[in-house]
Amino acid sequence: MAFSHILGQEQAITVLQNALRHQRVPQAYIFAGPEGVGKKFTALMLAKALNCHELDDDACDRCNSCHKIDEGIHPDVRVIAPDGQFIKIDQIRALQKDAGYKPFEGRKKVYILDQAEAMRAESANSLLKTLEEPTTDCIIILVTANVYALLPTVMSRCQLVRFVILGIEPLTTLLVRQKQIDPERARLIASLAEGCPGRALAMDAEETLDKRNQVEHLLHRLSSGLQDVRVIFEQAEQLSAEKSTLQEYLDILLAWYRDMHLLREHGNTRLIANVDAVPRLKETAFQLPASHLRRLFEIVYQAKMDILRNANAQLALEVMLISLTEVYNDRNRWR
Ligand SMILES: [Zn+2]
Repeated sequence: MAFSHILGQEQAITVLQNALRHQRVPQAYIFAGPEGVGKKFTALMLAKALNCHELDDDACDRCNSCHKIDEGIHPDVRVIAPDGQFIKIDQIRALQKDAGYKPFEGRKKVYILDQAEAMRAESANSLLKTLEEPTTDCIIILVTANVYALLPTVMSRCQLVRFVILGIEPLTTLLVRQKQIDPERARLIASLAEGCPGRALAMDAEETLDKRNQVEHLLHRLSSGLQDVRVIFEQAEQLSAEKSTLQEYLDILLAWYRDMHLLREHGNTRLIANVDAVPRLKETAFQLPASHLRRLFEIVYQAKMDILRNANAQLALEVMLISLTEVYNDRNRWR
């Protein structure tokens, strides 16, 4: 895919294309920005543009070189990722040895160090030697979500390119185009992924909607006052058993409460995540005073944070569900 397919990173792309057009691509880049915004994807795109047979400042996606890079079989383009927890010194040494040779079939050798912050000091110091010996044939791209974990000496040898969170609107457009899902669902996923394309593309629209329905069902029971404590504990147990998806459930719950709050306080549908559920959101939002709504949001947020900080998930969920019930019961008195 050409650079024009990367959405929301116009500034970064302009920097890269200018360097390509003026043949002033530095020997080393740092691509820094949050997880899942397209840093590694852009690094591969740059590798394609540097080696494309058809174009000088972009990838044609048709030539042999572009195809090989897409398939991960180009001999001059390497992605180096942590082996276990760290990028090991042996991996850097192998890179250095390889960089000593001329490109095998392309114009430039490109080394992409994914999660470059996983280099220990010894690996980073070793890499520094390569960065200090300018060559015209090889380019190193350090990809990181945590630029400040890199050694300052490494940072000073690289040109820093910043990547930003995409934003809900452009990500919705991207999802509609790439995954052929309808705009309302795409918007829900874009919101839950907080504007990160990597996260959004990994989410399954059907599964997410299914989880949203479960959350809605749970809230219906909590707010109707039908819930007894035994059921609450069962639910906490069920939810906490699925560690991998637990945060996703909590994010859905937070998005739901945030939407209720937005509708109630601002009457605004522009920022709503659950655009397909506006009538239901409105109906429930006005059954509660605004202060209660804020409290509900805070309770879920607190549980999310506690679990992220390794609190016992089941216990945190029990506390959350009981606290939510109390707010709803208080509402019943208020009504
Ligand atoms: Zn090409």
